[in-house]
Amino acid sequence: MTTIRHHLSDELLGAYAAGDLPEAFGLVVAVHLSMCDECRARSMTLETLGGAVLDTGEAVPMGEGALGAAMARLDALMQEPKAAPKRRTGVPAPLAEYIGGDLDAVRWKSVGKGVKQAILPTDRLASARLLRIPGGVAVPDHGHKGLELTLVLQGAFSDGTGRFGLCICLAATEAPLRFKGLMPRLAQPFFRI
Ligand code: ZN
Repeated sequence: MTTIRHHLSDELLGAYAAGDLPEAFGLVVAVHLSMCDECRARSMTLETLGGAVLDTGEAVPMGEGALGAAMARLDALMQEPKAAPKRRTGVPAPLAEYIGGDLDAVRWKSVGKGVKQAILPTDRLASARLLRIPGGVAVPDHGHKGLELTLVLQGAFSDGTGRFGLCICLAATEAPLRFKGLMPRLAQPFFRI
């Protein structure tokens, strides 16, 4: 079972809602949102807040009534997060389009040490890839920092006992590719494309 330990920042969710993210990052955010009730609820809250600001504009100051109504909407959203989009094939819907179905359809390319990757077709501002990392390959814990965004789709980097199982990750990196923080320094040469 996949456990999401790193959540999306409000900054990232805001940029996603505004359409400011490169496609690769937008994809990782969309997949994360499809898998994570917590971030989905926060995303909807941010969108509601943004909408409230837009609705009132400058001509109509937001009074107590408007604020109360907005808060009531937020409460409702927080209590009833929308159900995640259905997964037809076990692959989150936003990802399925990119890989043409499920993970069995992915055309993996070996990048050394048993690690495989598949580059996904996105705009060139950033790149998105799936990484298939075999058990026993130590990957340092990392979250959403700097110019990378990684999401574990299957398996886990660490099960808390120091053992590492097979995991499949979705990673977005800003171009030019930099893996500092994503993979150990030693592994960097394997990821050059
Ligand atoms: Zn999350």
